[in-house]
Amino acid sequence: MFGILNPIDYDDEYDYDAPYEILVFARPAELPESSKLAQCPHLSTRLAFMIDYHVHTSLCNHANGSMDQYIRNAIDAGLSEICFLDHLTLHESGRHLSMRPDYVPLYYQTTRRLANTYKNHIRVKVGLEVDYDPKNAPIVTKIIAPYDFDVIGGSVHFIDRINIVSSKDTEARESKSIDEICELYLAVLDEMIENTHVDIICHLDIFKKFGRRPSSDFEKKFDEILSKISDKRLTVELNTSGYTHKANEFYPNTSLIKKCREKNIRMTIGSDAHQPQQVARHFDKAIDLLIKSGYRYISAFTRREQYDIPLTIANHKTPKIQTGGAL
Ligand SMILES: [Zn+2]
Ligand SMILES: [Zn+2]
Repeated sequence: MFGILNPIDYDDEYDYDAPYEILVFARPAELPESSKLAQCPHLSTRLAFMIDYHVHTSLCNHANGSMDQYIRNAIDAGLSEICFLDHLTLHESGRHLSMRPDYVPLYYQTTRRLANTYKNHIRVKVGLEVDYDPKNAPIVTKIIAPYDFDVIGGSVHFIDRINIVSSKDTEARESKSIDEICELYLAVLDEMIENTHVDIICHLDIFKKFGRRPSSDFEKKFDEILSKISDKRLTVELNTSGYTHKANEFYPNTSLIKKCREKNIRMTIGSDAHQPQQVARHFDKAIDLLIKSGYRYISAFTRREQYDIPLTIANHKTPKIQTGGAL
């Protein structure tokens, strides 16, 4: 039924059943009328027209819940957009934590179908969180090419074959100092920014996930990296999952968010939800921080075209969308 792309033989590693049925409700429950939705008591004025640009699906093998449930929770939270940004990781260390490349067509088409189902309630977008992997970069390009993704996020989860975001790799990770990890991480991140064509840089300082912080020696390197991000007009993600982790702060931290503002870097916002109930987590705090840091717009994408959504919304009118201009 769906087109197949199979650049790597995954047969030994995966055993998925009926993926479409697990992605969506077998029989969708009745949808609210859009007029009812506008008066929905759960619709938070604060979050109206807010977006969540980073949620996963069960295809990545370490998230759960149906895609409908993520969307419905986003509607309940009063969001105007939700963007699925599921993992595409090709290198050996992380394949098992990613969607299979041959499921990309299914993922894309399912999301577009759901976008149509929920179009009177919320905009549903589809993107990918791609792990930077120079060796497999041409395959990634080939996988992505046939689809009109709304956005591509770039992430660094692996350095020296160590998964820096997994508790399963604690021993290997802790065999290195956090300064060593930070140095290696920033080198890979720098390379990713130089060499790949992504729209969003995901969780910029994710190396702090388990609570260890590097010394201040990396400020200069971060400054150089932010300048490159600014020159390439990329968007940085404010990833709110850090408040659920030992990091106990956003990715990136407040000081980096302020530097992003100084360098005129646009920001978007994502919960990195791996369960539907995590949609829009810690968003109130994130909105406050963005506003305090001088942001008035938040970055969104349609078919990889960036546009700005106002951050300070006091009513439920259709959001004024602007392209270019001030942040
Ligand atoms: Zn990630
Ligand atoms: Zn993620």
